[in-house]
Amino acid sequence: MDRKASNNYWSNEGHEPLREYSRGQELTNNLPYIAMIILGATTFILGFENPIWGWSAAITYLIYGVAGALWIIIFMCPYCSRWNTSNCPCGYGRIAARLSKKKDSNRFKEKFKKHIPVIVPLWFIPIVAGIAFAIRSFSWSLFILLIVFALEAFIVLPLFSTKHSCVNCPQKDLCPWIERRS
Ligand code: SF4
Repeated sequence: MDRKASNNYWSNEGHEPLREYSRGQELTNNLPYIAMIILGATTFILGFENPIWGWSAAITYLIYGVAGALWIIIFMCPYCSRWNTSNCPCGYGRIAARLSKKKDSNRFKEKFKKHIPVIVPLWFIPIVAGIAFAIRSFSWSLFILLIVFALEAFIVLPLFSTKHSCVNCPQKDLCPWIERRS
């Protein structure tokens, strides 16, 4: 993408100045998602009585978590104005630049709506499975894990991404996530 075209994507009028993220900050910003995936996978290890089933389900969930991130990187990030810049808080934008060419930023909202549902089950599968496990055989460790997972997935992770990603995003007027919250 030539510099001029790139600058068009970066016309950030009316928004907070764009922030640049170091590699360390990108890694830190990925931690809440990584923590959610590890907590979700642990639900299966604690919930299944048979460890083979527990580990198989946990590994499947972990693979889904990694594949979900890759899905976003491949199918959504190329439409983002933060593609191939250090303004992407989690570093996906730079990874996306290695995997696919820049696409039309005006289609970001459409792509967001289409691809975000692919990863949404990651937030709910451990809760649904955990409740089923708890009904079948209640344990305090599983109960506490479910509470921690829910806090992480529904409070810490959204707060973290809002603080780091959305506040100065040049696309926030296009973003269905912000739209829904406002
Ligand atoms: S801000 Fe979001 S959509 Fe944009 S490049 Fe980064 S991860 Fe992808």
